[in-house]
Amino acid sequence: MSFRTVEEQLERVLAQVRRHPPITVPLDQAHGRTLASDALAISAVPVFDNSAMDGFAVRFADVVGASPDHPVTLRVIADIPAGSDIDPALAPGEAARIMTGSPAPTDADAIVPFEDTAGGLADSLETAIVQHAPQTPGAHIRRAAEDTAVGDVVLTAGTLIGARQLGALASAGIAQVAVAPRPKVAIVSTGSELVAPGQPLRRGQIPESNSSLLAGLAVDAGAEIVLRRSVDDEGDGPAEAVAEARSRGADAIIFSGGVSAGAYEIVKQSLAGAMEFTKVAMQPGKPQGFGATDEGMLLFGLPGNPVSAAVSFEVFVRPALMRMQGRASVHRPRMLLPAGSDWRTPPGRRQYLPAVIDRTDPARPVVRPATKGGSGSHLSVGLGVAEVYAIIPAETEQVSAGDLIEVMEL
Ligand code: AMP
Ligand code: MG
Repeated sequence: MSFRTVEEQLERVLAQVRRHPPITVPLDQAHGRTLASDALAISAVPVFDNSAMDGFAVRFADVVGASPDHPVTLRVIADIPAGSDIDPALAPGEAARIMTGSPAPTDADAIVPFEDTAGGLADSLETAIVQHAPQTPGAHIRRAAEDTAVGDVVLTAGTLIGARQLGALASAGIAQVAVAPRPKVAIVSTGSELVAPGQPLRRGQIPESNSSLLAGLAVDAGAEIVLRRSVDDEGDGPAEAVAEARSRGADAIIFSGGVSAGAYEIVKQSLAGAMEFTKVAMQPGKPQGFGATDEGMLLFGLPGNPVSAAVSFEVFVRPALMRMQGRASVHRPRMLLPAGSDWRTPPGRRQYLPAVIDRTDPARPVVRPATKGGSGSHLSVGLGVAEVYAIIPAETEQVSAGDLIEVMEL
């Protein structure tokens, strides 16, 4: 029996992804979105030549010989607080008191910090007694545009806008950005055993957890949740959910459960015509359903075990949501780490094992399974402590401590 590879299945998924035209949003609505076009600086960074220190703006030639034994006394003829627009002329022997970020006078070509003068802040509006010469002309002056010039690319299309990116954009005078619309996602859990978390459980019932998991993962991936519901294993719940998701303009619907080989596989039964059900050479996550409607809504049928659903999301759904948003890379970053223990892996299937990074020796972090129980796809609490997925090739059957393991950062 030959299973489809992860790459073959992912290729089929990505081939169905459709993108919407970009929208323009103010910066305060841009957090977590993806830039749709290069963002160009409206103003330079820094905007103008300015002081990097609190001290005195001076003419370098005046103070070049200053030392503790031969201090140079300058007359202070102006005071330049932050926000000031003055540009005082400096004659030989003159200085201006200046604060960090204030515009450096055109006539000044160095800043002497207070700590290099005899008086410091005291008497700083009268004289500056310079005891240490600045190192070079231009010392402690931040030059206009040394970070970014007007019109320079601040961030490229496809960049995720996080906090640091918001800061960079704002500092370059950018008030609004073209971004990808948030993918609209519907989350549908299937199973007659499921009840809302916190509800009393009669024998046979369990708390429904996949919708919390999958909605959270989708939001983390930049999506907006437009529908969230559970359906039982009888009737036509999945097809009805598809109709509801479509009416809400969903770009993707994510089912969990009901796609494997049992007797009550409701997603398989209800959506047989709309989705393809297949087996992928991975563990967990072997049974996968996928399809797309005529309008381009993606239909994902993930297996129901919580770890299987989580891994399947990472492997197939997240890349699709990234592609929908035009993200520069659709994949999570990966790195190699030595294994910190031994574990067995299934033959013929690529393993995605929830794992933690043991940093006991910070110079040599190692990767360990997140749960003592190993790779069980039902170990949903173990998933809560996982920091990475260890990815073990299909050919490997045994991992030994010290083996270099590829891990997917989460
Ligand atoms: P299924 O893929 O429907 O056969 O489900 C596999 C296992 O995952 C079963 O033990 C289900 O009870 C469990 N499961 C399915 N869906 C959920 C869910 N939404 N929340 C928690 N467990 C689930
Ligand atoms: Mg089920």
